[in-house]
Amino acid sequence: MESRTAAIVQRSLNALFDDDSFLCDLHNGKREKAFTSLVSILSTPNHVHKSFLRIALEDGSVVRIPAYRVQHNNILGPYKGGIRFHESVNEDEVVNLSSLMTLKNALHEVPFGGGKGGVVINPRNYTAKDLHAICVKYVQYFTKVIGPNEDIPAPDVGTGEREMDWMMGEFKSIHPGRDYLGSFTGKSVENGGSLGRRTSTGKGVYFTFRYLLHDFVKEQKSWLEDRKSADAHTVLETYDQSLTLAFQGFGNVGSAAALNAYQCSHINNKIVAVSDRNVTLYQQDGLDIPALVKYTDKNNGDLPRNAEELHAAQVQAEILEREDILYLNIDALFLVALENQIHSDNMEKIKAKIVVEGANAPITNEADEYLTNAGTLIIPDILANAGGVIVSYFEWIQGKETQFFTEEEVFRRLYEKMKKTFDNVFPTFFSNAYTLRKTCYIHSVLKLSTILYRQGKLY
Ligand code: NAD
Repeated sequence: MESRTAAIVQRSLNALFDDDSFLCDLHNGKREKAFTSLVSILSTPNHVHKSFLRIALEDGSVVRIPAYRVQHNNILGPYKGGIRFHESVNEDEVVNLSSLMTLKNALHEVPFGGGKGGVVINPRNYTAKDLHAICVKYVQYFTKVIGPNEDIPAPDVGTGEREMDWMMGEFKSIHPGRDYLGSFTGKSVENGGSLGRRTSTGKGVYFTFRYLLHDFVKEQKSWLEDRKSADAHTVLETYDQSLTLAFQGFGNVGSAAALNAYQCSHINNKIVAVSDRNVTLYQQDGLDIPALVKYTDKNNGDLPRNAEELHAAQVQAEILEREDILYLNIDALFLVALENQIHSDNMEKIKAKIVVEGANAPITNEADEYLTNAGTLIIPDILANAGGVIVSYFEWIQGKETQFFTEEEVFRRLYEKMKKTFDNVFPTFFSNAYTLRKTCYIHSVLKLSTILYRQGKLY
C-alpha cells in the first residue's frame, strides 16, 4: 500500500475497525479476515492498462507516446474518471487519481467506480491534427476495456469537450450499432453533452466552501457553538465576515469557481489574487474576475502576463511570481491547478486559515498533517471537486434516455446531490476528532465496505 490515498484509506479502515458497529455481524476471526480483504481490495487497482500510442505527426515524424487507463474499483458501477494530457503523467499518479475517483463516487453516492487515464504529452506542443490522432489512437488501444457500461472516461487537465467529441466519434466507428452517447462524458452539448458540465466542477468547489462557511453555519449556529473543536471555532469566526480569497489555477475549474465566488451574494468575498502556469495577479481591492474570464477565453486559457496584456484585459493588478499566490495573507486559498502544490518545502509559508482542494491531491500527506496541526481547515478534494463527476453522471443518464435537462435543472440536481453529502458529513465532522478529509474517507470506505460485504466479496 504505497500511494498517499492508500495510506489514508488504511487509516480510515483502522478507525472503522475500532468501531464495533462496523461489520458487526462477523465473529470468530471472520471480521479480521474481512478487514484484510478490504485493505487489499481498496489499496490496489483492479487493472492497469498501459500502451504506447504510435502516432504519425503532422511534421512527418513518428512517435510512440506512453498512455494509461487505470481501473481501480467497480463495485459501485462502471469505472469512471478523466483522461489527462500532461507531460508529468506517470503510472503511480494515474493509480492514485483512480483510487480518489472510487472514494469520491462512494462519498457522493454516484453509481460509478473509480478509473483514470493519462497520456504523457504537453498538448500545447501538438497541432490540432496531432491531438486528434492521439485521441483516436487512445480509443483504438483501449477500446476493449472502455464503454458506456464498463469504463466511461471524461476530460481532465489538458483535455476538454473537443477531445471527448473526437473520442466518442472513434468509439462509435469501432462499435457500429452499440450505444455510444454514454461512452464518454464532458462532450460538447451539440454532441450529446450536458448543459452545465463545463462549469460544474468549479461551481461545486465554490458551493462546498459556501455551504460549510455559510449555509451550514447559518442553520446550525447554536449546535456548532456547543462544539469545542478548532474547526467549529474557525467556521463560526468566519461566518458573516468579509473574506479575502485567492485561486491558484484559472483553467476549467479555477475560473468557474472564482467567477462563482465573485458573484456570490451570501458571502462578502473579495478575490485578491488568481494565478496560472505563468503568473500571479494580485489586487488588494479585489480583481475583476469577469474581465479575466473573458480574457482567458480569448487567449488560449492564459491570464495576462504583462502590463500590455493587463491593459488589453482592462484589468488592474500587480504581477507577481507564479508561486507567490500560495503565501499571501488571505482567509481562503483555493488550490485549483495540479497535485503536490503544498509540500514539505513550502508548507510553513502558508498563511490562509482555510484551504480548498479544487484540484486532486494538491497537498502532500506531510503538508496536510503540518497544516492540520497548525489549525488550517482543509476542505478535501473528494468532497469539493465532485461537481464534474456528478454532472457527468447526469450526462450519462441523459445520453441513455436521449432526454436532456435544462441547465437550471442540472444545477438544481447538482446542488441537491452535494448538499445531501454535506448534510451527511458535516455533522459527523464537527462531532468527532478527525479531520474533514478523514471523515470523508471514513464515509466512503464504509459505503464501499458495506457493498463489498453484501456482494460477498470479503473472503
Ligand atoms: P485546466 O488545464 O483547465 O487548468 C489548469 C490551470 O492550472 C490552468 O490555469 C494552468 O495555467 C494552471 N497551472 C498549470 N500549472 C500550474 C502551476 N505549476 N502553478 C499554477 N498554476 C498552474 O485543468 P482543470 O480541468 O481546471 O483541472 C484543474 C484541477 O482540477 C486538476 O487537478 C484536475 O484533476 C482537477 N479536477 C478537474 C475536474 C474537471 O471537471 N475538469 C474535475 C475534478 C477535478
